[in-house]
Amino acid sequence: MDPVVVVHGGAWAIPESMAERSVLGVQEAAKAAWRVLETGGNSIDAVEAAITVLEDDPVFDSGTGAVLTMDGTVELDAIIMEGNSLGAGSVACVERIKNPIQLARKVMEQADHVMLVGKGANMFAEECGIPQVPMEQLVTPEAIESWEFFKKYRCTVQTLFSNRVEELPGSEFVNGHETVGCVVMDKTGLLTAGTSTGGITAKRVGRVGDSPLIGCGAYADNASAAVSCTGHGESISKVCLASLVTEKCRLGIHPNKAIRESLSYMNKRVGGAGGAICIDNKGNIGIGFNTERMAWASKTNVESVYGLDAGERIVF
Ligand code: ASP
Repeated sequence: MDPVVVVHGGAWAIPESMAERSVLGVQEAAKAAWRVLETGGNSIDAVEAAITVLEDDPVFDSGTGAVLTMDGTVELDAIIMEGNSLGAGSVACVERIKNPIQLARKVMEQADHVMLVGKGANMFAEECGIPQVPMEQLVTPEAIESWEFFKKYRCTVQTLFSNRVEELPGSEFVNGHETVGCVVMDKTGLLTAGTSTGGITAKRVGRVGDSPLIGCGAYADNASAAVSCTGHGESISKVCLASLVTEKCRLGIHPNKAIRESLSYMNKRVGGAGGAICIDNKGNIGIGFNTERMAWASKTNVESVYGLDAGERIVF
């Protein structure tokens, strides 16, 4: 098979002040995944590498740069899943982990479970030698400004996905939710999907969105497709968005159409907005969102492309 990499950096009304950094970040992550494939790594290694780059980039809401909970703390969620044996690992509400995607991979490969949360996940990180850092190391000034903005206006998570937020003074500080994700097909045809997030600014302590949930924030099955989702986590979870997209691909629907139909179903059924990236088991790419913007990048042997606004495709 010809390898394929697709990366996203979150679907929402990304303000101009974050636009350039977001598209540069997703391009860097796609390149990192590609390098791994070129040097003999498989799609699991490639997804881990791409998401590690995004988690370390403070513009994104994952790892360093994650948004803050209502109490001003950082709680991170991540998932990785491979489509051969349907191996999956995820962590939710973990604290002080610089790269939650690496911990999710350890869960997939070394735990007898598919998901660990909170204290137990941190204890497992210690056992596996995954470094834990002081929380302050993950908190950026932008995350604090955004948190202060949301405390002031008491916005709900719904507001973040509408453009009403831009009408409020101080909205340039909004760093709502640049969740990250990556899907890869390697030359053996192995599909892998991963997603990592700090969730949504001013979320309740203990809140878990769609991102670390199998079939919601990500799914991978070599029999159909690999998908990573972003957007309003409560809505995505209710319709199991990643699973919805992969099931459509299983029926032979092109990933672009599968995403479009699934997002439209979600919007009609529960009212939420979001986006998704997908590679089906023939190597077809799907990218779609019904929010204002989503930063994404893709890489194949033929071309490297990125976009932000609807319909945008720029070669890099
Ligand atoms: N889906 C994420 C969550 O609800 C947020 C996002 O994708 O922007 O935690």
